[in-house]
Amino acid sequence: MEQSDESVDSKQATKPKLCLINPLRGPCPPGGFRFVFEQDGFVVHAWCYTDWVGFARDHARANDLPVPTGEAMQEQLCLTLEPGWCSYDDDNRPRPSMLLEWKDVLRAAETFTKWIEDGLQIVDKAEAERRALICARCPLNIPITGCSVCQGTINKLASKLPETHSDSFLKSCAVCHCTLKMKIWLPIKTLDKGIQQHQNLYSQVQHCWMNTNGNNFQPD
Ligand code: SF4
Repeated sequence: MEQSDESVDSKQATKPKLCLINPLRGPCPPGGFRFVFEQDGFVVHAWCYTDWVGFARDHARANDLPVPTGEAMQEQLCLTLEPGWCSYDDDNRPRPSMLLEWKDVLRAAETFTKWIEDGLQIVDKAEAERRALICARCPLNIPITGCSVCQGTINKLASKLPETHSDSFLKSCAVCHCTLKMKIWLPIKTLDKGIQQHQNLYSQVQHCWMNTNGNNFQPD
């Protein structure tokens, strides 16, 4: 039997959201409590839940932004946490990691090879600025740990590219572990393989410009 739009909508509205198992008395998540305001990219960080929610409320009021609920903050944080921290979760849900691994280096080498084969093309400044602003306000724009030599090499390459107004806010993408200062300049055709490989993660971030089903995806 077909479901009416109304019943589908009401099911989505009541779908339980990701939330911390014990926000008030549980242990602090790895790296602390972290929330990014999508409106201005401001990162609220704290080591205690009540401070975290309070800092977010203060920032919102001082900047005339809607005050995020604790539930919304937990849901965003849970998108980046390992299994065992959040309720209403699925152990098989794809999760980004914050560690640069050997497979990331191999993937980066593959992307560079493709970029060179494609003639080292970069997107125009307006597009890079658009992407940089989106990434700057994304909760998955994070510092990645591991292989400092690889990161140093990539950062050196990225420094040869033009700058955007959001550069000082850009770190690495938790999905692909790419240096965002570099990634925002590459054409979609160069990034295409990574887009396909990680679409299950990009599609969890509605505003991501690599989410092929999102409003911010723009093919070359
Ligand atoms: S590429 Fe997408 S997921 Fe990665 S930081 Fe940018 S907006 Fe976020």
